[in-house]
Amino acid sequence: LNTAGEFAMVKLNRGETMIILDGRAVAQQRSADLAVRAQAFEKKNARKAHLVVILVGDSGPSQVYVRNKAKACERVGMSAETLRWPAEISAETFVEQVRQVQAKKNVDGILLQLPLPDSLSKIDLGSLLDSAKDADCFTWANVGRQAAGLGHVQACTPQGIMSILSHYKISVEGLNVVVVGRSLIVGRPMSWLLTEAGATVTLCHSRTKNLREFTLRADLVVVAAGKARHWGRADFKKDAVVIDVGIHGAGGEQKICGDVRFEELEGWASAATPVPGGVGPMTIMSLLENTMSLAEARA
Ligand code: NAP
Repeated sequence: LNTAGEFAMVKLNRGETMIILDGRAVAQQRSADLAVRAQAFEKKNARKAHLVVILVGDSGPSQVYVRNKAKACERVGMSAETLRWPAEISAETFVEQVRQVQAKKNVDGILLQLPLPDSLSKIDLGSLLDSAKDADCFTWANVGRQAAGLGHVQACTPQGIMSILSHYKISVEGLNVVVVGRSLIVGRPMSWLLTEAGATVTLCHSRTKNLREFTLRADLVVVAAGKARHWGRADFKKDAVVIDVGIHGAGGEQKICGDVRFEELEGWASAATPVPGGVGPMTIMSLLENTMSLAEARA
């Protein structure tokens, strides 16, 4: 890893290089800009921009994610609060409590940490949250704006990936891109942002036939399927850029890994995100950036 914090290169025996897309370094750089905005906001409004993270139940990985989000807020001079509600909470109580939280004047951004318990699955989350406080682009209004390329907040993970690509000056214009996974928080909004940026995007999922035929043609592949170490060198064409969204093992005893066997990419991919240290830190940074944008817009 280089020490400049901009990009890190691995020199391989064969003289080939793969750029490691270092999400931590990108997040660190962006946090300096965010800290300036946070300070200006506090000076003008006599309070810090405030994020509320709602965690229902006590899943191990979610506990780790919400802790990291709160710490990151504090590091840049914003404030954060994590509300921990029991897994047995009734749908009525959940809805009522979310409404009470978002009515508070000092709350700028709200994030519902997924997954929620099955007992809450019937709630229309896209209509429940106030779009002016929707820090992860959950509401139908913000999803629609994002799909139309108009949103001032974007889904955090896709936005973080676009920031990584931009930091490393990887232009997607004209590239053939494959996104694996079609969830509403990762795969689909990723395909919209890439389309907006000029890529030709194919959105694949578990029903895609002969997936490898698609990924092998792609200049850039975003893998967001949630299948631990499922994809490797043979799935990507030489010199492809590989973005691994998957996270497995957080909060447990096993080593954290992604959807891709990262070690196979050296000498093959032109650039790739590691797990940990790739997309994850930038998802958090985007959450903070969204919260700050919402706070500034309301102020
Ligand atoms: P999700 O809602 O479970 O969606 C997974 C998607 O992958 C679905 O569209 C599914 O297809 C597709 N899929 C599953 N197995 C597949 C296969 N073998 N081949 C092709 N497609 C397949 O998951 P998600 O919320 O999008 O998250 C995906 C992964 O990213 C998870 O590991 C999650 O923990 C991680 N994640 C990481 C971050 C981060 O900050 N790094 C943020 C969010 C999520 P169907 O629609 O057909 O079922």
